[in-house]
Amino acid sequence: MLTERLGCIESVAASAYTVPTDRPEGDGTLTWDATTLVLVQVRCDGQVGTGWTYGSPACVEVVNGLLRPLLVGRGPLDTGAAWSAMVQALRNVGRPGIGGMALSAVDCALWDLKARLLGVPLHRLLGAVHQSVPLYGSGGFTTYDDDELVAALTGWTAQGLTRVKIKVGESWGGRPDRDLARAARCRDVVGADIELFVDANGGYDAGQAVRMAGAFDELDVGWFEEPVSSDDLAGLATVRARSRADVTAGEYGYDLAYLARMARSGAVDCLQADVTRCGGITELLRVAAAAAGCGLDVSGHCAPHQHVAALAAVPNLRHLEWFHDHVRIETLLFAGALAPVRGGLVPSDDRPGHGLAWRPDVAEEFRVG
Ligand SMILES: [Mg+2]
Repeated sequence: MLTERLGCIESVAASAYTVPTDRPEGDGTLTWDATTLVLVQVRCDGQVGTGWTYGSPACVEVVNGLLRPLLVGRGPLDTGAAWSAMVQALRNVGRPGIGGMALSAVDCALWDLKARLLGVPLHRLLGAVHQSVPLYGSGGFTTYDDDELVAALTGWTAQGLTRVKIKVGESWGGRPDRDLARAARCRDVVGADIELFVDANGGYDAGQAVRMAGAFDELDVGWFEEPVSSDDLAGLATVRARSRADVTAGEYGYDLAYLARMARSGAVDCLQADVTRCGGITELLRVAAAAAGCGLDVSGHCAPHQHVAALAAVPNLRHLEWFHDHVRIETLLFAGALAPVRGGLVPSDDRPGHGLAWRPDVAEEFRVG
């Protein structure tokens, strides 16, 4: 039997790497100049499964201290049992936030390990529905000047992307005129045939968001992400009722219950989910099913290379965020990173697992934990 030929999980190790941004980055409600990737590597029978999240280096302690003892010695194929054991262990530590990110990175690593042990690409193991995962270019930070904004937009369209997203809601909604001027500039630069998205990261209140939605409608903005806080489902629903653009949220969802509640509430037109936060591939597939039950599509948030295999297996997939910051980091720190093809990412059929290989030699200078 296959399970008798396979050994047990031999080791689980987390580490953290802080990479400076190429220029200051900011959205409606936060600015930053570095991003931390937390890496999890799981070993069995000479194979290494790799998963990651973007979060605090404190995730390393959760993985190495709390989760590792539950996993070493387990059979590597039972990702579901490992996931359930981890969720139970996180009860008093807290599932949302750092706990959820640690869980997500480990779950993604376990899925990658399983695919490598079976010698199949991860999207084939999961049951691919889509040959290509549609992308949208994302970044367009509020901290960019006009030249930087134009360079970002033209960079994405030159890559063949047909959807672009910029940040608005600058200074918690304190710069509405600049938000609109930047959005208008985007429409001028990309032309009428490119889909234009905006993301306020919860920077507006509901009344202001409704007024902004009317102005964004004039620019044919098709996607208005977190016009108000994603915790304000009533506010999201109010904006949704008054906006021609799709209203979306979900990137801060750390479990199925949160995301299923949002899907059921009527607050969003498309449910966003982040496989590096929501509980890994195991939970992402359940989230997608819950969204499908409400008639909603799913859009993947950030970390494109951690999403692509799983989203290829989601029937109700809308698209995936090709986020500048994470594209840059994943292309730097992994061999085998993908480039867009005809506006989408095509998971590799030539390599087992997710097809990426960590580059410890490159990463070492960024190591923080
Ligand atoms: Mg967002």
